[in-house]
Amino acid sequence: MESENFKNVNLVGYGREALIEFFSKLGEPSFRAVQTMKWIHQRGVTQFDAMTDLSKSLRAQLSQIATVEFPKVVNDIRSDDGTRKWLIELGDGNCVETVFIPEATRGTLCISSQVGCSLNCSFCATGRQGFNRNLETHEIISQVWIAKKLLQADGAERPITNIVLMGMGEPLLNYDNVIPALHLLLDDCSYGFSRRRVTLSTAGVVPGIEKLLEDCPVSLAVSLHAPSNSLRNELVPLNRKYPIEVLMASCRKYAAYDKRWRVTFEYIMLADVNDSLAHAKSLVKLLSSVPAKVNLIPYNEVEGLGYSRPGQKTLDEFREILLRAGIVAVTRKTRGDDVNAACGQLVGKFKDRTKRSSRLGVAAAPQELKKDEAICTV
Ligand code: SAH
Repeated sequence: MESENFKNVNLVGYGREALIEFFSKLGEPSFRAVQTMKWIHQRGVTQFDAMTDLSKSLRAQLSQIATVEFPKVVNDIRSDDGTRKWLIELGDGNCVETVFIPEATRGTLCISSQVGCSLNCSFCATGRQGFNRNLETHEIISQVWIAKKLLQADGAERPITNIVLMGMGEPLLNYDNVIPALHLLLDDCSYGFSRRRVTLSTAGVVPGIEKLLEDCPVSLAVSLHAPSNSLRNELVPLNRKYPIEVLMASCRKYAAYDKRWRVTFEYIMLADVNDSLAHAKSLVKLLSSVPAKVNLIPYNEVEGLGYSRPGQKTLDEFREILLRAGIVAVTRKTRGDDVNAACGQLVGKFKDRTKRSSRLGVAAAPQELKKDEAICTV
């Protein structure tokens, strides 16, 4: 293909295969793909001119037909506990949030996959804001590139060791753009994360879980939140489409990929809704047939949604029942809640195309992020 056929292609979202194809159309050998990936994702270089192992003429040609472009960070907020949250503007007026959570032995980056979310889980701030659009692959991977660069520039002690797709959106409903981003996360010539250290969190999009296993198995987290269909239908409306028994069957298949794998089940603790001892016992029963780990997430309150967090005693007793049944269960420490960077507090800034936010009377596009306004816990 003649280079005239390309116009301003942003190479940031191109993985190894896409780059090989791109360069072959320019009559270039396949190793150009690896060279370019390393420049962009490992060395953080955005100018083709600086990619010194490419020939001068190729560099000139690339400057004409391609770009290496990233969205702009419009807000950079630091929590007292070291959590950082960036508001990233995508260029079409939409913004998403990305959160970095440093811990003693790891640094986790929580990235978004959609502008808003279409699932409308009853407890989640993102869901209440409605949905605008899917993120492109380059917009997903850009969050990692930007965070890495800013953390490095800051001399941060803890680099990014883990990635979780637990920010705004349902990653399995943006499957075609998420998979190439996962490949870029895993590829040794870009970010080189192990499968174990990349976690995709889903509200339970069953066909997506099964496809993920074939296309790019990474650690799987499932937002369960209830042990019965009647309660889960209320909290996670998607459950009406893929009820618990169907979801569990796909989780069993997923975990069978590797005998060391466990599916992480996220369970938000909501006072007087799903936090009783009877709920804990049903959860034990439900998980008895799946290699599972449970993350108990103390609810981060979202104004106007009417849910609250149970007390410490309830959290401890619930966990104790799981532990006694031999289920690995951790209670997540809430991080970044002073800057609204905790789970379910990520709101971004966008125009709701589903009109859900106006129906529900919540602001679709908060004008500004205040320090005590907006989160991610891992
Ligand atoms: N759509 C995906 C990924 C985004 S949500 C999913 O549902 O898994 C990431 C996690 O944050 C989910 O487990 C979600 O249920 C949880 N979450 C949402 N709102 C929350 C809140 N207010 N407090 C605590 N956790 C919340």
